[in-house]
Amino acid sequence: MNSKRLYQLTFELDKWASKNQDIVKDIEQRYSPRGRFKTWRNSPEGKTWKKKQYIKQEGVCAICGHCLTLKVAEIDHIKPLSLYPELATTTSNLQLVHAHCNRTKSDH
Ligand SMILES: [Zn+2]
Repeated sequence: MNSKRLYQLTFELDKWASKNQDIVKDIEQRYSPRGRFKTWRNSPEGKTWKKKQYIKQEGVCAICGHCLTLKVAEIDHIKPLSLYPELATTTSNLQLVHAHCNRTKSDH
């Protein structure tokens, strides 16, 4: 592609984006690390992973080591999503924890 054509396309895309800001915002949210994680979490794959991981952790929270029920278990990013967005859905970076343990961790 020559640079003039590329420039034209970029210009047209910018023009389109400024007219369709709500669509752009929606796309950004959907494909943000958190958005990708949420999509994965609610997918059959994510749900299956959670059940398997629960068995693997023998029903205890990965942070405090106390009993955890599958219903209340939250998925925690071992390496935080804000610093490692590329690990949003990497299962080796995920663990099941209590909601309050997850929040305490985030405060650090
Ligand atoms: Zn806990």
